Amino acid sequence: MESREIVVIGGGLAGLAATDALKDRDVVLLEADERVGGRVFTQRRQPYWLSVGAHILGGPDSPMGKLAQEFGLTLAPIPGDTMAMFTGDRLVRGGKPELAPFRLALPPRARLSLVRTGLRLRRAALRAAAATPDMTHGNREFAGEYPTVEGDEALDRKSFADIVGHAHPAVAALYRTAANRLSAEPGELSGHFGANAIGSLWVSKRRYVMTVEGGLGEIARCLAERVGARVTTGARVRHVVARDDGVEVTFERRGETHNLRARHAVFAATAIAAREVIADLPADKAEALGHVRYGPYVVMAATTREPGPMAHDDLYAVALGGRTLAMIFNTVNPLRVPGGVRQPGGTLMMYAGADRAAALLSASDDEIRRLFLDDVHAVFPALRGLVDETWIRRIPHGYPFWAPGRLGRQDALARPFGNIFFAGDWIEYPSTDAAVRSGQLAARSIRRRMGLAA
Ligand SMILES: Cc1cc2nc3c(=O)[nH]c(=O)nc-3n(C[C@H](O)[C@H](O)[C@H](O)COP(=O)(O)OP(=O)(O)OC[C@H]3O[C@@H](n4cnc5c(N)ncnc54)[C@H](O)[C@@H]3O)c2cc1C
Repeated sequence: MESREIVVIGGGLAGLAATDALKDRDVVLLEADERVGGRVFTQRRQPYWLSVGAHILGGPDSPMGKLAQEFGLTLAPIPGDTMAMFTGDRLVRGGKPELAPFRLALPPRARLSLVRTGLRLRRAALRAAAATPDMTHGNREFAGEYPTVEGDEALDRKSFADIVGHAHPAVAALYRTAANRLSAEPGELSGHFGANAIGSLWVSKRRYVMTVEGGLGEIARCLAERVGARVTTGARVRHVVARDDGVEVTFERRGETHNLRARHAVFAATAIAAREVIADLPADKAEALGHVRYGPYVVMAATTREPGPMAHDDLYAVALGGRTLAMIFNTVNPLRVPGGVRQPGGTLMMYAGADRAAALLSASDDEIRRLFLDDVHAVFPALRGLVDETWIRRIPHGYPFWAPGRLGRQDALARPFGNIFFAGDWIEYPSTDAAVRSGQLAARSIRRRMGLAA
């Protein structure tokens, strides 16, 4: 049996960050796919890039922002509108979200409903923000051995739909889009999580909106380069047993079964995998892992071949009400800076989330492309006939949104089990920053247990 000091399971950002922080030790990372990066997946299309995964990070001081700077990547603020909305047949851009009731194409009763529900959401958002001061910035430093999260327990026991309350159908469609962006339906989402993630928009608390030129996959690529041969791809872990003096891992690679023993492990794959492969989990941990819900996305990235400037150049994100797509992103808006050279062409990213995505998981690429392009043409008629290459990715386990009752399960979820430490976006408020931070924290905790310097 192969023997190692540390084994890391899962090569998304969390596993890569953990391996990077342990690279001076005898460490191996086992990744099931043939590529690392997990839910971050970007490809270069000079002078642009395509993305079918995460695309925004938390700012220069966030874990992702710090890594980007360390690797000499260009952090790019997103100058464009991130709050545009498309309802009926109208694109509304710019302005404060609180003023949306007066600007969207809505019947009078729907306007009133948006004001009422908006006030309820605003109250909840203020309460949630007061209980979770750091959520939106992702730069909190953890002192303990594993991540804690703060929040409003009463809000967390309710669903986002409970908090919004009864809404006019046209307004309910908008809230549905907001929940779908997080891969959930409004009734599935924790009230605390929804109020924080969605309601914060309502109180004009603009998040730090920033990306990396070339896409966030550049950070995964740089991490993978730095950890080099410590990564084994195509290695699917099937069984993990915690022993008094370490862990035993069984994995499959190229049709063969391998056994590996290590002193410590970082489990950085999904919560679903944790529950499936780790033997004899304590009952509260198994229950908490089962409570983590992953909503689906169907994502499409596209290149466009416009010869010059377009009306959407100064726009980053559009939320669509009542359509197949929840969101369209003008991925390369960071390059459209005033006074800069506007190269021909461009790229877009778009996705359907939650039930609408679930219904498309088994659809053909042609069908997905047709439905998505119908929405693109409705929002940006000038792009008709200009979409070139498309890249479709179905992600059944897209995002571990918080379901009601998530807050009370934090300790059970994040707590180590024997010498197995846990990392991944599901351990916190899910994001790339959370993934990196949890990986780094797991590495730090292992170093402490081994009596090494952080
Ligand atoms: C469409 C989309 C848009 C998003 N947008 C943003 C955004 O703009 N900003 C943001 O911050 N976040 C965003 N996110 C969320 C972000 O992508 C994730 O929070 C983050 O990438 C999670 O990283 P991770 O390492 O925790 O998990 P993952 O990236 O899922 O990595 C887990 C890895 O474990 C591997 N694995 C699973 N099972 C096994 C096994 N049994 N054995 C070995 N390996 C295994 C998987 O193959 C995978 O590579 C988005 C997500 C999606 C899908």
